[in-house]
Amino acid sequence: MKYVVVSGGVLSGLGKGVTASSIGVLLKSAGLRVTAVKIDPYLNSDAGTMSPFEHGEVFVLDDGGEADLDLGNYERFCDLNLYRDNNITTGKIYSQVIEAERRGDYLGKTVQVIPHITNAVQDWIERIAAVPADGKEGSPDACVIELGGTVGDIESAPFIEALRQFQFRVGRENIYFVHVSLVPVMGPVGEQKTKPTQHTVKELRGLGITPDVLVCRAEAPLARETREKLAQFCHVSPDAVMSAHDVSNIYRVPLLLKEQGMCEALGIDCEVTDLMTRWEKMADRVDNLGDDVRIAMVGKYTGLTDSYLSVIKSLQHASYTVERTLQIDWIEASNLEDASHSDWEILRAANGILVPGGFGDRGIEGKILAANYARTNSVPYLGICLGLQIATIEFCRNVLGLENANSTEFDENTPHPAVVFMPEISKTHLGGTMRLGSRPTIFQVDDCMMRRLYGGDAEVDERHRHRYEVNPDLISNIEAAGLNFVGKDETGLRCEIFELEGHPYYVGVQYHPEFKSRPERPSPPFLGLLKAATGQSI
Ligand code: GLN
Repeated sequence: MKYVVVSGGVLSGLGKGVTASSIGVLLKSAGLRVTAVKIDPYLNSDAGTMSPFEHGEVFVLDDGGEADLDLGNYERFCDLNLYRDNNITTGKIYSQVIEAERRGDYLGKTVQVIPHITNAVQDWIERIAAVPADGKEGSPDACVIELGGTVGDIESAPFIEALRQFQFRVGRENIYFVHVSLVPVMGPVGEQKTKPTQHTVKELRGLGITPDVLVCRAEAPLARETREKLAQFCHVSPDAVMSAHDVSNIYRVPLLLKEQGMCEALGIDCEVTDLMTRWEKMADRVDNLGDDVRIAMVGKYTGLTDSYLSVIKSLQHASYTVERTLQIDWIEASNLEDASHSDWEILRAANGILVPGGFGDRGIEGKILAANYARTNSVPYLGICLGLQIATIEFCRNVLGLENANSTEFDENTPHPAVVFMPEISKTHLGGTMRLGSRPTIFQVDDCMMRRLYGGDAEVDERHRHRYEVNPDLISNIEAAGLNFVGKDETGLRCEIFELEGHPYYVGVQYHPEFKSRPERPSPPFLGLLKAATGQSI
């Protein structure tokens, strides 16, 4: 097993995740079967209870794991399906060690960070690295490990120590350390400054890890002198100082690293498969898309686009297939509650409307107004999870005439509960208790738009994350009025997909299709939205 550890210094948000994923692509292009691990040094057990406002979206895995959004990057770049254990957190490691201590596993010993926590981290990495994530049998050949946070944080110290020891466990020749840093530009002559990188490498080396490769984020390519200076001061070969400067699109990053010798630095031959040629084509295509297509995203966390990262990626993937330039217009849902707000102009100018998943009652009425606008004006609409629920509420209120119909999530005493709490869900614990992960949806009809988009399959698996569902008692009335639940769960009772009769594309899905979209395989509901928004037939 070849391990590549990606750490980061100077500041967060440098694109460590994209670097780690790009390295995964290079390893794959060398014919290696790849998996990935993200280490998040926070104390939460998982990202499930964290606000997308603060931390970006919660990425849901097939097995129901609620993880950091970087797992989404790995899945999309390397075409993997990861497991909850591919995301290690301080919370998970400590719970495991404390539980073992209570069982008596360490009887007689004082339980300490070194060796107990650091051993638990290493055991975990070795165990999960052997689990295939590419749908094939047998152990992967390579594992990319991304260490979250910035080197020097108190929280990440035990993980760095575990990784320092790990190089002896697996052999120094089987592990590569890649450190991502920042090279800022200062002064009127635009000098590239190396000192922040010098400091972070010094810190890393002080903790016992010598980086093999430096990836330097910069606006412009690194100058030769900058590269040489970094090599000299950071104890890294000049060939292993890579410039990760701004490029026209994200698919260029693996190509950029390859051009600069990342494959040689990792001791691999990146020409074994045709993967890099495919990435090159994709990168060129993305730079040469046609006219704009405008999608209005009516959401709540519109201040931090990372809150909807996978939805954005899925829209992009679909836009590559229809060969249009995607423009996303962010609309803060609550603004639509004011009929004269300028966001209404933006909504009216859009070619399609998307209401993504969400929790809590803020902006709900605005989202309902957006769904109403799309329904009554034949504007293509995709409602995801909450977006399906609010569209159902809108339909109950305005088509069935059920006044004040609502979800019991927003109004416990609504006279017409259109959306209700699912019976099996815990009311006492919020962490990890939703209806989570991959579940089947069975088409109820032989032919409908969504079934065609999914290639005609009778059954599809998508990932879920919700506590509420469309009230099964109302389904027959809603269907009689033209909103058809064309996909249901395996019991035939729970609504998964709706389509509106006579509308070009008015679709709701209870699941989150955004988690399984891939650059070369766009998610069908998103592709449908973009096709409808660009006037193509489905
Ligand atoms: N809040 C809704 C529920 O729990 C929708 C969840 C979501 O959109 N992910 O069912």
